[in-house]
Amino acid sequence: RERTDRATKARPYPLFLAEKAASLFVDPILSSPPPPSSSGEKETIVVLGTGWGAASFLKNVDTDRYDVTVISPRNYFVFTPMLAGASVGTVDFKSITEPIREINNRAKYVEASATSIDTTKRTVSCVSVSCEGNSCETIEFDVAYDRLLFSVGARTTTFGTPGVEEYCNYLKQVGDAQQIKNAIVNCFENASLPARASTPEMIERELTFVIVGAGPTGVEFAAELLDFIEGDGPRYYKELLPYVRIKIVEAAPTILRPFEDGMKDEAMRRLTRDIEIPGVPTIRPLEVLLNKQVSEVSAKYIYFKDGDRLHYGMALWAAGIGPLPLTTSLIEELGDTEQSTAQKEFARGRLGVDPWLRVIGGRGRIFSLGDCSCVSNTPSLPATAQVASQQGEYLGRLLSNDYRIDEAGDDSSSLLPPMVLDRDQPRSLSERIASLTMGDDEIAAPFQFLDLGILAYTGSGSALAQVQVAPGKGDPTSETWNPVRLQIKGKLGFGLWRSIYLWKQTSPKNVVLVTLDWIKVKLFGRDISIL
Ligand code: FAD
Repeated sequence: RERTDRATKARPYPLFLAEKAASLFVDPILSSPPPPSSSGEKETIVVLGTGWGAASFLKNVDTDRYDVTVISPRNYFVFTPMLAGASVGTVDFKSITEPIREINNRAKYVEASATSIDTTKRTVSCVSVSCEGNSCETIEFDVAYDRLLFSVGARTTTFGTPGVEEYCNYLKQVGDAQQIKNAIVNCFENASLPARASTPEMIERELTFVIVGAGPTGVEFAAELLDFIEGDGPRYYKELLPYVRIKIVEAAPTILRPFEDGMKDEAMRRLTRDIEIPGVPTIRPLEVLLNKQVSEVSAKYIYFKDGDRLHYGMALWAAGIGPLPLTTSLIEELGDTEQSTAQKEFARGRLGVDPWLRVIGGRGRIFSLGDCSCVSNTPSLPATAQVASQQGEYLGRLLSNDYRIDEAGDDSSSLLPPMVLDRDQPRSLSERIASLTMGDDEIAAPFQFLDLGILAYTGSGSALAQVQVAPGKGDPTSETWNPVRLQIKGKLGFGLWRSIYLWKQTSPKNVVLVTLDWIKVKLFGRDISIL
């Protein structure tokens, strides 16, 4: 207890705040570090998901200390920030994915979807589809865990808007991007069919691309689509270009909410630029419609609450994310624990975790991170790859190497065993960076997000980069908290955007593939085969 107090006092103010928030739910204690498991055998950590959070955890977890089993319907990691580029052929799908076995070849991988979790028996029920030739069968089985990492991400939410699921595309997975790529090319091919598009109005309808949601995903997709029109349109569909319309529709009064006003204006300017094509009158294909709320989508039209409607050839729904049914069912499974209070107070549909990423009410057995979780810590963290991967690294290190887990407390209380740091370990650069979030004290510091800034591609070789260089004064949760942010735009922003995305690739192989894709597009244009 004395050492706990000492550790708390030594904390900088934000860490102190985080611990204070956590103390509402758990009371960290300190005891001597026991062996990894009371039976002397390795504990089993089951990881659900192969996304940003899980991949980062797998890179950092010590497989000498744990048996790690990964369960996910997808046997690869995908670099989601480049999905928009992949959906128009700027990069190949293979260049932005990495087999999960490559990321950690000592972890076991099970290709299945988790359907439910039994927190009493500590099992995950799974379903998998196994095919031989043309016949497929569904296999159901359970996997036991000692500790569970719940990192299943989120799904695109439609806010119950009728017709969205039937008629709109999403951009969340590689399969979605593949579908979008085919849909875009199909629109151009349909517009070239005399039987289908015989009047200018019909051609225009086929070539109207509506993007619902002007957050980073919607804006980056629009920018990539505009690049495709500008770069490859003149070669393949020159006579159709005057009919192309791209409409970004946003319910809020502004685009790119996380960016400063000047950056938003720059994005608007870039997106709504004129495009000069030799032999064709200048076109301005993109329009941004703000304060427009979609009420319904039909096969041909998008209807708005204000009574307007838009015809479209292809629609992308990028208007927000919500919890997966599995997350909701785990919250229900946790029942009337502190989790139900967390739901009311801050988590709101996401899994409430304390600042050490322990699921509240999960008795130290379940951890969660990324888009499916919400930390009982303020200010609330954005649902981004940056947060998920930092959390994955934090948790991997917390449960491995320098930290040990105490078995005390176990199922009888919701206390997580204390984490004790071995300070004699040599520290690599990444460990030193991680110490910013993990602290140097004997008790693990709670997770603290290190905001490295945000990026957005705005088309035609320009991008926005907004980096926080100094914290604001006062309370970070207040509206008036105004940190100092460095703003980089245009070509410089683009250089930074490309460098960071290359640097962040999971392997040297992907760095090479992505670079080659960019060169290929520059030299030969995008591939428009419908596969
Ligand atoms: P995910 O990465 O979504 O991974 C979830 C994993 O869980 C997947 O492997 C999935 O297959 C698996 N899964 C789902 N259901 C089950 C189940 N029932 N059982 C087992 N496994 C399951 N963030 C940024 O910081 N910068 C960006 O530029 C950026 N751009 C983006 C662009 C796009 C197009 C998209 C879609 C997202 C972007 N994001 C960006 C957000 C970022 O991708 C997410 O915040 C991040 O992926 C969250 O990581 P995660 O690990 O929580 O979930």
